[in-house]
Amino acid sequence: MFQPSTDIKYLQGVGPQRAQLLQKELDISTMGDMLHYYPYRYVDRSKTYRIAEIDGNMPHVQLSGQIISMEEIGEGRSRRLVARFTDGTGWIELVWFQGLKYVSKAYKVRTPYTIFGKPTIFNNHLQINHPDIENADPSLTPQRTEGGLPFRPHYHTTERMKKNFLASSTVARLMQNLFLLITEPLPETLPQPIVDEYHLMSHDEAIHQIHFPTTPDTLRRAQARLKFEELFYIQLSILRYAKNRRQHSGGYIFSTVGEAFNTFYFHYLPFQLTDAQKRVVREIRQDMRLGRQMNRLLQGDVGSGKTLVALLCALIAIDNGYQTVIMAPTEILAEQHLETLRNFLGDMPLRIELLTGSVKGKRRKEVLSALLSGSIHILIGTHAVIEDNVQFHRLGLAIIDEQHRFGVAQRAKLWNKQATPPHILVMTATPIPRTLAMTLYGDLDVSVIDQLPPGRKPIKTIHQFMAHIDRIHAAMRRELQAGHQIYVVFPLIKETEKLDLQNLEQGYADICDAFPDYRVSRVHGQLLPAEKDREMEAFATGQTQILVATTVIEVGVNVPNASVMVIMNAERFGLSQLHQLRGRVGRGAEQSYCILVTNYKISDTTRKRLQIMVDSTDGFEIAEADLKLRGPGDLEGTQQSGMAFDLKIANLARDGQILNYARAAAGRLIDTDPEENLPQYQTAWQQLALLRDSNTNWGAIS
Ligand code: ADP
Ligand code: MG
Repeated sequence: MFQPSTDIKYLQGVGPQRAQLLQKELDISTMGDMLHYYPYRYVDRSKTYRIAEIDGNMPHVQLSGQIISMEEIGEGRSRRLVARFTDGTGWIELVWFQGLKYVSKAYKVRTPYTIFGKPTIFNNHLQINHPDIENADPSLTPQRTEGGLPFRPHYHTTERMKKNFLASSTVARLMQNLFLLITEPLPETLPQPIVDEYHLMSHDEAIHQIHFPTTPDTLRRAQARLKFEELFYIQLSILRYAKNRRQHSGGYIFSTVGEAFNTFYFHYLPFQLTDAQKRVVREIRQDMRLGRQMNRLLQGDVGSGKTLVALLCALIAIDNGYQTVIMAPTEILAEQHLETLRNFLGDMPLRIELLTGSVKGKRRKEVLSALLSGSIHILIGTHAVIEDNVQFHRLGLAIIDEQHRFGVAQRAKLWNKQATPPHILVMTATPIPRTLAMTLYGDLDVSVIDQLPPGRKPIKTIHQFMAHIDRIHAAMRRELQAGHQIYVVFPLIKETEKLDLQNLEQGYADICDAFPDYRVSRVHGQLLPAEKDREMEAFATGQTQILVATTVIEVGVNVPNASVMVIMNAERFGLSQLHQLRGRVGRGAEQSYCILVTNYKISDTTRKRLQIMVDSTDGFEIAEADLKLRGPGDLEGTQQSGMAFDLKIANLARDGQILNYARAAAGRLIDTDPEENLPQYQTAWQQLALLRDSNTNWGAIS
């Protein structure tokens, strides 16, 4: 009888050694784990190609024929086993670099085989490296149904597994053994009303079909069902957590909008708020007066005016007798915020202070004691503000700028500073695609500033090759002559990488040569903070006209007179990063330009990525496109967000629609069965508890 909790070593064909391997390499310890180890790809076995028809550009193919010769050639690391395989219409070489002994024993010449693999052209002939081989006689390969199935599942395996003869085909065979044990239908894991409503395949059928599909259509339906299930339980977990928090965690009540806010709004605000800013401030104000803790994500493209919104919220806190802390990811940004806010507030009698790693000694003591006594209204800082010795008098609001660099754990640390948690406003300029936001920040309410302040002209973006550097210089000269300033940015993956620094120094020398009549600043991570500040300052005040820099300028600096952003080796930046950099220009009323410079030789994907930048200035559109091109694993921020959970089957880039359904279904379940006691929904609550117990990553979700 099949029991999901049975140790995998008892499965026929596994045993203690393979069990250990499966455990270490794939985290499979039980039969249930094995059942949920899904194939990543299927090879259509219904079509057998003739060798005469194939070429090196085809995906995986199935061939049928015989090996006519086999020999080991080469020495040392290039030692390999080469077999010549023919089906009468042509021949192809099969090559192995590993497991030579095993392979040469396992396969015989002049015996019919069916092989699978990806053909490539090498030295003018076709070859397949490490093909999957099996006996052409079907009686030797067990099948779940008679007559064989059109799709062959392929399972990911690791190098170590392959070395120990546990390749995909072996996993498939073990899977068949596993299914022989399953004599009863597998119990349904979603509540039946939801299965019915969304016309989902049953759990039992989906699990069978995902491993051994019978038709392309049933495979698709099985995938849809399992993706839905996976996303449904993540959403259920998030939404249930958010509901509990809303019910149980109290929050400060900011009931009034008073003198500080009104004085600033009517006498100091240098311009009209955009409609989007007004709406967002209203949403936040509303949220902070309800007596429960606010947890809100404020999304807004670069330059949409989030800083001002943050200030207005801080003023509401002040009017209600509370302090505000604003956390920035870097010292430069924290300092810039301090300066910006002080400028906005002018001579209003409010105290704003800075607390970063570089605030030391006597100064630090002063800030800390003023914070505790309550004479500081707004504290701006970096990670330094969450240290234990930083104590507030009455912290009512915490604003986190550029959230993706703060982990969930750090957010929690802020909450735990006092009995009643402060309201939390998370601001991000990295637009997070909706699908990703729902899984990453599913517990937060969201406000969006979807409008830029008036008078901004969209930035014109062009892609230019390094070979045409003279054209780039000509364009730069035109702008300089018009009195504008220019950024030239070089990539720097790690601030210590020598090569990049040389690259930057060379670029700096070239720029100085090309523009002898203009003055050039240079900023990179190797400079002392004081030097960095001096160089930045020179550019910000217009003493220098060109700033050659690494990505340290990515966030923070605000120089409205700068009208050109030149990005060297643009292929080395992520799209969201390029978008952030581009946002440094176009802050004044002048037409601004962004020039993406690359070598002539770039990959197709790079070309596509840069084209997206050329075509779009919409951060959300760019982030969506980036997600589709790169997949969520690589998306900036997901790694640092502390939410490194793995999805087994759903893909956030492609399954947005399924995610929407799953979230809606989860939300409705919470509303329909608030006490979690309706019999028809018991499956869901039991399953949720089971998943939370078994999946350590789920702790990060809520
Ligand atoms: P971000 O959302 O990228 O943080 P900022 O808050 O830095 O954007 O705002 C970008 C610029 O726009 C700043 O110079 C700011 O003073 C200005 N700004 C903000 N709101 C408005 C507005 N409503 N009208 C005009 N300018 C604005
Ligand atoms: Mg900002």
